[in-house]
Amino acid sequence: MFFQKFQRFMLGRYGTDTLSFFLLGLGLVLTFCGSLFFWPLTLLADAVYIYSIFRMFSRNIPARQREYYAFLKVWNPALKWLRFQKRKFLDRKYYRYFRCPNCKQDLRAPRGKGKIEVTCQKCHNVFTTKT
Ligand SMILES: [Zn+2]
Repeated sequence: MFFQKFQRFMLGRYGTDTLSFFLLGLGLVLTFCGSLFFWPLTLLADAVYIYSIFRMFSRNIPARQREYYAFLKVWNPALKWLRFQKRKFLDRKYYRYFRCPNCKQDLRAPRGKGKIEVTCQKCHNVFTTKT
């Protein structure tokens, strides 16, 4: 009964997306930091919560989608960078990561091979490096 009423209430409203969850997470972090270090941060956290709830119940879907795409332009590269750092950390025993001096492509080679000659897969630049 309540669930059906809520479903009817949410009809035509934006709902949640990654930005909503990011804002809720940011609000939690701000609340935590505010209660430990500097209380005005909790006011900022409240503003973030209110904005997140406003987005969920908003009927202006095109505007919410524009916000979401603007967020993704920053979020996706950040997520990609974080996953690459994780990969580098997990591989640290077996691979050494380095950049092509010509095109800045990220490359890797097995560790412990000494001085090696590398051909970049992207620009075919040949250079030597230590692994
Ligand atoms: Zn290259």
